[in-house]
Amino acid sequence: MALIVHKYGGTSMGSTERIRSVAMRVAKWARAGHQMVVVPSAMSGETNRLLGLAKELSPAAMDAAALRELDAIAATGEQVSVGLLALALQAQGLQAVSYSGWQVPVATDRSYTKARIESIDDKRVRADLAAGKVVVITGFQGIDGDGNVTTLGRGGSDTSAVAIAAAMHADECLIYTDVDGVYTTDPRIVPEARRLSTISFEEMLEMASLGSKVLQIRSVEFAGKYRVPLRVLSSFTPWDIDINEEARSGTLITFEEDEKMEQAVVSGIAFNRDEAKITVMGVPDKPGIAYQILGPVADANIDIDVIIQNVSHDGRTDFSFTVHRNDYAKTLDLLKNTVAPATGAAQVLGDPKICKVSIVGIGMRSHVGVASKMFRTLSEEGINIQMISTSEIKTSVVIDEKYMELAVRALHKAFDLEQPAAAA
Ligand code: ASP
Ligand code: MG
Repeated sequence: MALIVHKYGGTSMGSTERIRSVAMRVAKWARAGHQMVVVPSAMSGETNRLLGLAKELSPAAMDAAALRELDAIAATGEQVSVGLLALALQAQGLQAVSYSGWQVPVATDRSYTKARIESIDDKRVRADLAAGKVVVITGFQGIDGDGNVTTLGRGGSDTSAVAIAAAMHADECLIYTDVDGVYTTDPRIVPEARRLSTISFEEMLEMASLGSKVLQIRSVEFAGKYRVPLRVLSSFTPWDIDINEEARSGTLITFEEDEKMEQAVVSGIAFNRDEAKITVMGVPDKPGIAYQILGPVADANIDIDVIIQNVSHDGRTDFSFTVHRNDYAKTLDLLKNTVAPATGAAQVLGDPKICKVSIVGIGMRSHVGVASKMFRTLSEEGINIQMISTSEIKTSVVIDEKYMELAVRALHKAFDLEQPAAAA
């Protein structure tokens, strides 16, 4: 007997019919003798609907008082889901009980709309499991120290499930979703993309932060920190498929020392169209200049991604960086109106039509020439690289947005990702 956490996304919970098939799948696991905790998302479209209603009635720039209400509203989507799923489980003849985040409780910090989980009190849940019940807990939400409802940010149910699995030392956390695992890249762009049977936690972390939307990045961070065995799998297989087959399906996120891991140099290609580039031209090249440019950007709470500074000529240099596209206009204003006059920069230029394409693989640690192969591949396609950034296990380039699909396809082919990796 194992303690298993299942997480079901919004599509899997999208109708009463689908909720019934989730219940049948969970019942199959419970009848196989496992203790089951289930964490569902809101029914698909529900969170958007709720936030849309809220936006109709609130000013564009929301203060803390408004954000508090936004979380109280958004959290209801998952509360409906847990109640419906508990009913559906009871209808299958199981004992089941639902809890919202504040009932467990899942304690978070006070940052509305992007709260972080601080601790989970699992007493009540353990008692229910010991009494033979299936426990259904809301994703996406918790309660802060003052008793306010908080939410964890969009996609936060993944993080709830992993955090609950970590707190309870679950044997495995299974994330059921509308894709059947983690792919070498997005199959909508590269039809030959292949499902990975395993991916290391570090690669998954890079893939999630580089734009692959399968898991919320915080859930991956959590899984890494607490070593939660995590599997991404499809909720669209028939609910009554063999449980052993189901338990081996999808993509398992492993830790590096695992021997079974596929030994490809590059495991996947991620891309992100949500960035924009800003260049500050002709700034004096002297100590403190990076801080003078980026300090005010950080103070305005704008996240910066790739940064490059050119070599200087005549004591002046150019400085470029990327920000999220939503922050583009704000950043450009800030630089033109505040930073440029203060630093004596010659000009500030912006380009929102860029994208970032990255190759990811822990094999890059022990292989040389991987980045150069990436650059060669792009040059053969006539794609100009505007910026480069690297870490131990990834190389990212910033290129013109219009070449994104071409770049992803060419790289997928160049690194043989359509072929299953040879066993090590
Ligand atoms: N319902 C929330 C959202 O749509 C949380 C989640 O589904 O993970 O973002
Ligand atoms: Mg999701």
